[in-house]
Amino acid sequence: MLPVPLLEDLGPLEGRSVLVRVDFNVPLAGGGPGTTAEIADDLRIRAALPTLRWLLARGAIITACTHLGRPKGQPDPRYSVQPVRQRLAELAPGVELLENLRFEPGETANDPGLAERLVAGHDAYVNDAFGASHRAHASIVGPPRWLPSAAGRLLAREVEVLGGLRDAPRRPFVAVLGGAKVSDKLGVIDALLEMVDALVIGGAMCFTFLKARGHRVGASLCEESMVGHCRELLDGPTPIHLPYDLTALGPGGVPGDPGAGGDVLQVRADVPDGWMGVDIGPGSAAQFGDVIHEAGTVFWNGPMGVFEDPRFGGGTGAVAAAMAETRAMTVVGGGDSAAAARRFGVDRDMDHVSTGGGASLELIEKGDLPGLTALRRAT
Ligand code: ADP
Ligand code: MG
Repeated sequence: MLPVPLLEDLGPLEGRSVLVRVDFNVPLAGGGPGTTAEIADDLRIRAALPTLRWLLARGAIITACTHLGRPKGQPDPRYSVQPVRQRLAELAPGVELLENLRFEPGETANDPGLAERLVAGHDAYVNDAFGASHRAHASIVGPPRWLPSAAGRLLAREVEVLGGLRDAPRRPFVAVLGGAKVSDKLGVIDALLEMVDALVIGGAMCFTFLKARGHRVGASLCEESMVGHCRELLDGPTPIHLPYDLTALGPGGVPGDPGAGGDVLQVRADVPDGWMGVDIGPGSAAQFGDVIHEAGTVFWNGPMGVFEDPRFGGGTGAVAAAMAETRAMTVVGGGDSAAAARRFGVDRDMDHVSTGGGASLELIEKGDLPGLTALRRAT
């Protein structure tokens, strides 16, 4: 993967004004009529501190900017950065934070006029918003057209680790994929099949593959239009491990709602009519664990089941535990996968938990992102 310019490349920063694009798109709680929202988790703010503190220590004057939630291109008090500002003032005093970039329609429309207004008065630009760098938005691709630019610490680490998976993984290299939809991840599945020594598939995604192998999937999530493509992938040279047993939820049950009842059964790879596959079974969980233990590198994206429901967290928990125990280099990508790693208490045992969901998958798939290209072309 091509390198990106780093903070050290910016030269002396004493008294210089630096615009820093961060990803402070934190989860908010509350914020009903007349009340202000509160930050439910400040992880993303803390993740930018190494960059902000490095710049402050060198005498830079920092203006940070971020998007927050999905306001529709106009000011919306529910998405004001005010609570983020307060937390930032505690963690990195002296850093100014602009109001939500998505209050401006020009942000997502990549309006050069907005970018020009953002860079006015600044001497340099730093992108530390990995989670937004797959989008050609004004604050991501615009400023490098005018300012000397660099990747912040967080962004640089993501490029180093995810780029390393593409360029020189310790083998065997195994990807463990799960989550909801095959169609969302088809690009990355195709790309990974060229790179890995084996692919392990669980989650709702496995049912489209199981169907392609001739199994019955009952009422499980299955993308009919993808079955043919999955069959081709199964016939390809890279081994693909599918579950041979499953946890299924009976008619009337609702995944995510234990109170709604419904029978829960362990079945083989065929799901009875009216039943829904909601997790990989214990045998498959153990087998997937063995593959993870024997790997040199593991990339994990997508939970193995509906782990938000404690009845169906077993498969994801087993994969999380194997990831924590293996001597392989372990990398987790994807918002729900990172949440699962935290839920099962293994996030600190991973070599790297990516802060970008879509961005991490796109970087692995394509080997580059619009935000990275922009940094390399900077003045
Ligand atoms: P990530 O954010 O890590 O990329 P995804 O968004 O693709 O992951 O998928 C996460 C979701 O997939 C979770 O909400 C989980 O409940 C759901 N899921 C996993 N397995 C199943 C299944 N067998 N049936 C239905 N949903 C599933
Ligand atoms: Mg997700």
